[in-house]
Amino acid sequence: MRSNLMRAVKNRGSKSTEWVLRSALCRAGLRGWQMHVESLPGTPDFVFTEHRVTIFVDGCFWHGCGRCYRRPITNRSYWDNKLEMNRARDRRVDRLLRRRGWRVIHIWQHELTRGNEERLLKRIEQALASSARN
Ligand SMILES: [Zn+2]
Repeated sequence: MRSNLMRAVKNRGSKSTEWVLRSALCRAGLRGWQMHVESLPGTPDFVFTEHRVTIFVDGCFWHGCGRCYRRPITNRSYWDNKLEMNRARDRRVDRLLRRRGWRVIHIWQHELTRGNEERLLKRIEQALASSARN
């Protein structure tokens, strides 16, 4: 029971991983961001409105990470189809956002580890800095 629940939570690849990024942003003293902005395509996980930067934290399973994705043994056509649809939606959302002048950053769930935090923050800060120059 408990392990099923834990697995379900983990597979969504959202809450706990988002939380890691959220606390990293706070610790780094970055401000001016909101979470889960429903008024933008794809409901980005993090949005820096002033800098027009959006961040998506992608679950390795749901978005088909090249490093982590393992094709399920059963119901393969279902899962293949599901993955293809998720990827197509990701591409569509990115296109829509970029067309509206947003920068789009995707972070894999597996990248959100303590050891990797500094590198991720650098990436985000670079995006913020470069869009500030525009
Ligand atoms: Zn991954």
